[in-house]
Amino acid sequence: MSREIVFIGFGSNLGNRLDFCDRAVTLLSLLPHSLVTGVSSLYETEPLPENNPGPQWFLNGIVRLETDLAPQSVLEVCREVEKSLGRDQDNRSGPRTLDLDILLYGARVINEPGLIVPHPRLHLRRFVLAPLAELAPDLQHPLSNKTLQELLAQLVDRSVVRRLDPQPSSRYGSRPSCSSAAAARDSA
Ligand code: ADP
Ligand code: MG
Repeated sequence: MSREIVFIGFGSNLGNRLDFCDRAVTLLSLLPHSLVTGVSSLYETEPLPENNPGPQWFLNGIVRLETDLAPQSVLEVCREVEKSLGRDQDNRSGPRTLDLDILLYGARVINEPGLIVPHPRLHLRRFVLAPLAELAPDLQHPLSNKTLQELLAQLVDRSVVRRLDPQPSSRYGSRPSCSSAAAARDSA
């Protein structure tokens, strides 16, 4: 088994958004053969009309997961977490209690049924790149070889993405700050 660093984006724009985001991070932190080694700040973001999610703004963030699980297993887990948090399976593109997307899986390039990595719209979206560049500014996108910081700086997407200030505290104590990543890794 090879341990990879995976970035998973989470977003909610329906119901108690903060609670859904908290629960999603908690559930990801319980995965076997895996360790959550970073969580970005939470951002409030304007919904993009392209996939019709309704008018409610999103809460978005990113989890950094170190895992031995295979990509398809991580995708399966993401689907299960979405389901367990009430994602409407009949209208997936509508307002959503929780969306989980695999953004990066180490430097792997994956084109399998139901799974494309790097996520095909990651480099176009401010609501993804802002929290991602916070966690890993110097990481290179495996296809363009630009760093996440560079991709963020050259974005055309002008939609509003604002870091919550103050940051809400995590209800389940499951949101290690970015800076605790090294400590968590050392104790793994
Ligand atoms: P979106 O996130 O684009 O609003 P969905 O969450 O409904 O839409 O996902 C649509 C499909 O995208 C899913 O069926 C899933 O299999 C597929 N998919 C492809 N690549 C990925 C990825 N990297 N992460 C998550 N889902 C992906
Ligand atoms: Mg999704």
